[in-house]
Amino acid sequence: MKLIITIDTEGDNQWDAGLPRSTDNIRFIPRFQELCDRYHFPPTYLCTYEVVDSTAFDEILLPLHKSRRAEVGAHLHPWTNPPLSKWDRGDNGAAYPSELPADLFTQKLESLTALLAAKLGETPRSYRAGRWGLSAAHIPALLQCGYIVDCSVTPLLSWTDPGARERGQDFSDAPVSPYFVAWGDPAREGASGLLEVPVTILHTNAIMRHSPLLRGAYRRYRKTLAARMLNRAFWIAPQWFRPFSDMSVARLTAVYETARRLGLPAVEMMFHSSELMPDGSPHNLTVESVDHLFTRLDRLFAHLAGRKVEGITLSAFAEPLCKARGTCDR
Ligand SMILES: [Zn+2]
Repeated sequence: MKLIITIDTEGDNQWDAGLPRSTDNIRFIPRFQELCDRYHFPPTYLCTYEVVDSTAFDEILLPLHKSRRAEVGAHLHPWTNPPLSKWDRGDNGAAYPSELPADLFTQKLESLTALLAAKLGETPRSYRAGRWGLSAAHIPALLQCGYIVDCSVTPLLSWTDPGARERGQDFSDAPVSPYFVAWGDPAREGASGLLEVPVTILHTNAIMRHSPLLRGAYRRYRKTLAARMLNRAFWIAPQWFRPFSDMSVARLTAVYETARRLGLPAVEMMFHSSELMPDGSPHNLTVESVDHLFTRLDRLFAHLAGRKVEGITLSAFAEPLCKARGTCDR
């Protein structure tokens, strides 16, 4: 089993309506990198335009990529990624990349890729869309720009709830194991040659895992008090391999152990670089909260190391699969 750690490496507090462009949180990455180094788990930092454009990128992230202690890939936030446009932010909040006209998305991807390539000295190969907004229209643009692997798919989840102002993609039925995406739908397996390594999101509750009926009922009633109470007692919701502040080490370990039981070749963790900085995100407002994150990650990584899990970057995981399929020539 492999461990892929993906970090959305982006500006401070991107949940804020004002969407600040500061990138102070990048200065908090070295502490996390040291933890990863200790376990030989090289992370993959998926960086937005404003991060790649910062001096902190040159001082902190670039040396990590060049020394192969980590991989740097791309993360596209329409609202900070040139060329800026009227589509980037509307009355309904920040745009999902999937909401952009296809030509505009391609131009933004090309400018992000060019900046990354100039700094890295090589084409980036790993990608994640901001707000999980990957659409079928993006697949040819990603391949054209040299990307071999995407990680924007969140199985069992949909980002299409109009009540919550979500206008993204529906990944409810996407595979939980890595797959090559279909040209017409990134949530389906097919012939495009772009590898998808979805974020690990699973039902750790075996009854939920085996009952499409109960999963459908949960989806429908998930916002009710009853569903929330049942979830607290029985963990009936899909569980992310993501260190949310309410995810204990035991819960995170349960997600890993479920993935292992299902025979998945890898588990993929995700969180945001801004979660490493106190008050950098809604998730960790205080120093104590960030310390708690580190304590939990340390204990989780110790468990994974004890289970002989091997850390790997996203593109290193993808490369042999793409080579076998003839879609990767580097
Ligand atoms: Zn993001």
